[in-house]
Amino acid sequence: MADVTLDTLRKEFDRGTIVAVDDIDLELEDGEFVTVVGPSGCGKTTTLRMVAGLEEPTSGAVRFDGEDVTDIHAKDRPVAMVFQNYALYPHKTVMENMAFGLKMSTDMTKEQRRERVTEMAEMMGIADLLDDKPDELSGGQKQRVALGRAIAREPEVFLFDEPLSNLDAKLRTEMRAEIQKLQKEFGVTAMYVTHDQEEAMTMGDRLAILNDGKLQQVGQPTEVYENPVNKFVAGFIGSPSMNFIDVDVETDGTTATIRDDESGLAFELSGEYVTGRDLESGPYTLGIRPENIVVKEAPTGDETLVSTVEVVEPIGSDNYIHLAINDDFLARSRPDIKPETGDEVGVTFEEEHIHLFDAETGEDVFLSDEEIAAAVA
Ligand code: ATP
Repeated sequence: MADVTLDTLRKEFDRGTIVAVDDIDLELEDGEFVTVVGPSGCGKTTTLRMVAGLEEPTSGAVRFDGEDVTDIHAKDRPVAMVFQNYALYPHKTVMENMAFGLKMSTDMTKEQRRERVTEMAEMMGIADLLDDKPDELSGGQKQRVALGRAIAREPEVFLFDEPLSNLDAKLRTEMRAEIQKLQKEFGVTAMYVTHDQEEAMTMGDRLAILNDGKLQQVGQPTEVYENPVNKFVAGFIGSPSMNFIDVDVETDGTTATIRDDESGLAFELSGEYVTGRDLESGPYTLGIRPENIVVKEAPTGDETLVSTVEVVEPIGSDNYIHLAINDDFLARSRPDIKPETGDEVGVTFEEEHIHLFDAETGEDVFLSDEEIAAAVA
């Protein structure tokens, strides 16, 4: 199998007026599962297509095991791709669809191809579908066939482009587990593109988060969740998303107060978050995740702020409490905390989970420049 390196990979369209992929550096270890995630148009598919050999980079290189494959044709790369629309030939049977890739990419005999396909189909639980045509199959079955076809080629690198988007929620969850199991079983390096951060969090050994063609952060799911390097990653990863509020910070280098007059927010930061850090007085965006907010049904006077309850949404294990701060500010609390709409409640932020983002660059000010640089290394 192969490790995959994207070396300052760039793709421009329309004579440079569109920069789809902006000098991305990324390394996938041999056998690693990396999800590439970001909003629509951020450059995920273009990146994947350059690794597949379907799109020529404007500059930069793609390497498999250190070998530059940038100029090698797609069909000569040891990759198999699985697409959202399955890309099955409608007039061929499942057997013929699965065997076709082998015919194109190997010198196996017809008999050998049939044997390999039958073996794969048994493994994937689709052996009884081998004589069917794609339009006789459900979406889940079609995607299993597409997966089986990809695996039958014994690729060194698997490339997935939103393969589960057409399936319903239950099937998607099943297929996620199946894809991960197969990928680990075969030890194939995998790059998996999705716009769905939840999918990215549950599937990847690591996530590569893109925005506007630029790599924002690479890390394990818990790493990017707990230590997002900037406001974009903080807001994109996590559901429900992180709450943001514009604040002013006043500091003398040893103590700091965070304030927002509109919401009445006042918070004294402990010395450990101030001393030895580059925190300066000025405007910031404070970020706090819903589960890191403590709601008290009766304000006690020592909370971060007092707010009015807009709606309480019980989800069984917890309650989502929507508060009248900004447009939508959400606290996730224990199910026994259930204030009524219109109630005034005490709202306290857990200090160790407060993020402060630079008002201009969006970078997390609690991270050093080295930590921010390391996040995309
Ligand atoms: P989505 O999730 O919507 O598929 P994506 O993150 O995969 O989005 P890409 O499809 O890689 O994004 O597109 C990145 C940018 O490049 C977009 O602005 C898109 O419009 C542009 N783009 C992609 N392909 C072409 C092309 N062939 N010609 C011109 N612009 C293109």
